[in-house]
Amino acid sequence: MKDKSITIIGSGINAFFFIKNLVDNNIKINLIDFTFSKKNNNKKFDNQSSPKIQIENFDENIDKFKELNCLIYNNFNTQSGLAIGGLSNVWGGTIYKFTSDELKKNNLHDLNLYSYIKYITDENLKIIEPEKKPFFENLFNNNSYTVNYNERLVSNFEVPFNVKEKFRELINKKKINFIDGFVDRINKNEKKYDLLIKDKNGKKFIFSDKNLVLAAGSISTARLLMNLLNKNTAKLLSTPLYREVFFSTNRHKNNNLSAIFSITNNNFKDIASHIFPLNGLNNKFFLNYLKLKGNFLNPFINFIKPNFYGVYHYLSSDYSNITIEQKNENILITGNKTENIKQIFKRNSLNRYKFFKIPFTSKELLQGNDNHIGGSFPLKNYFNKLNELNNFKNLHVIDGTYLNYIPPLGYTLITILNAIRIAKNISL
Ligand SMILES: Cc1cc2nc3c(=O)[nH]c(=O)nc-3n(C[C@H](O)[C@H](O)[C@H](O)COP(=O)(O)OP(=O)(O)OC[C@H]3O[C@@H](n4cnc5c(N)ncnc54)[C@H](O)[C@@H]3O)c2cc1C
Repeated sequence: MKDKSITIIGSGINAFFFIKNLVDNNIKINLIDFTFSKKNNNKKFDNQSSPKIQIENFDENIDKFKELNCLIYNNFNTQSGLAIGGLSNVWGGTIYKFTSDELKKNNLHDLNLYSYIKYITDENLKIIEPEKKPFFENLFNNNSYTVNYNERLVSNFEVPFNVKEKFRELINKKKINFIDGFVDRINKNEKKYDLLIKDKNGKKFIFSDKNLVLAAGSISTARLLMNLLNKNTAKLLSTPLYREVFFSTNRHKNNNLSAIFSITNNNFKDIASHIFPLNGLNNKFFLNYLKLKGNFLNPFINFIKPNFYGVYHYLSSDYSNITIEQKNENILITGNKTENIKQIFKRNSLNRYKFFKIPFTSKELLQGNDNHIGGSFPLKNYFNKLNELNNFKNLHVIDGTYLNYIPPLGYTLITILNAIRIAKNISL
C-alpha cells in the first residue's frame, strides 16, 4: 500500500505533465474533474469562437462551467470549459517558445525551465518541425518583422493529442484514482485540506488529503483561492485579441487548423500575430458567418477555402484589464475598457501585397476570448519557489493563476515546464 498521496484538481495539460512526472514514485495520485454528458446537442456557432471549437457539446460544456462556478460575464468571454471541453482538450499543440525577458517578468528566470523540455516527449508524444512556407516568408521578409515557425507537440500520428485520452490511459492502468466531481470549496484543517465536491446529481461530499495541487484552469482556481483566502476581488490577465481575415493567391491544402507561423514585430515586442489556415474549417462556419443556408454553396466554399487565412493579433497582458468580484454567491468577471488598443492593432495589421484583407471581417474580440487567461495570484506575492501558497503548506498551484505577465504568444509552455519542475522537486 502507498502511504503518501496527493490530490490534483483539474485534468488539463498542466495536470497531465505534472502527473506524468510523478507516477511510479510510490505515491497515490487522486485526480478530480467533472465529466458530464447532455443528450440535447444544439450546436451553436459563435463567430467569436476559435475555429478549433468544433467538438461536440462544446457550448453546453461552457454553460455548465459557468453554472457550477456561478460566473457572470460582463464584457468578457472565454472558451474555458469543463472536462471534455477544458481548454486543454482543444489546444492545437503549438509550442510557443518564451524569452528570458518574459520569464523575468514572471520571476521565473532563475529556474532553468527549458532544461525540463526533455520530460515532455516519450514514445507516444513527439515534437515536430512545422512545414515551411517560403511564399509568406518572402512577403514579411523585412527588418520590421520576424517570421517564427513554431514546433508542435503531437502524437505519433502527427496530430494534436487529446489530453483526456492520456488521462484515460493512466486511469485504466490504475496509475491514478479518478474522482468524478466539481470542487466547490477548499477548507484548511490542521493537517489536511477538506474539499467540498459536487457530483453530477448535485449531491455534495467531502474528500480530504494532506497534499493538494490546483490545476483547474485560471478561472476556477482563482475562485477557489478567493474563497480560501477570503478575498472579494482579484484581477485577471489576458492577451487582448484582434482578428482579421485575408485572401491570398497561395492555396493551403492541409486540413490542420493550427497556426502555420507567427509573426513578431521587431520594434514592438508586445504584439504577436498568428496566421491560421481556414481550409480545415467546416463549411457551416462560413455559411453561419454569412448568415446563409443551403448545401448548394458547398462546391464554391470548398473551392475558395484554401485561399482564406485568419490572422489573430495578440497583445501582451500589459494591455488587459479584467476584474473578478465576489458578489454574494456569484463571481462577476468584467472586462474593463482598455484605451487605444484598436489603434495599436490597426497600426500593426499585416496588409501586404498578395495578401488581401477581406472587408468587414476585422474585429477586436472581447478580453478572455484569447484563451490565455491567468495572473490572479502572482507568484511573487503569494507563493514560494515551488509554487506552494504562503501559509498553506502542501498546497501548490500549477495553472496560469500564478503568472504576473502573459507574453503575446501565450504561456502554456511556461506553465507546463514549471509543472514538470515542481513534480520533480516536490517533497511529500
Ligand atoms: C482552441 C484553443 C487552441 C489552443 N491552442 C494552443 C496551442 O496550440 N498552444 C498553446 O500553447 N496553447 C494553446 N491553447 C491554450 C491552452 O489550451 C491553455 O493554456 C491550456 O489548456 C491551459 O491548461 P490548464 O491545464 O491550465 O487548464 P484547462 O485546460 O482549462 O483544464 C482545467 C481542467 O480543470 C477542470 N476543472 C475546472 N474547474 C474545476 C473544479 N472546480 N473542480 C474540478 N475540476 C475542475 C476542467 O474540467 C478542466 O478539465 C489553446 C486554447 C484553445 C481554447
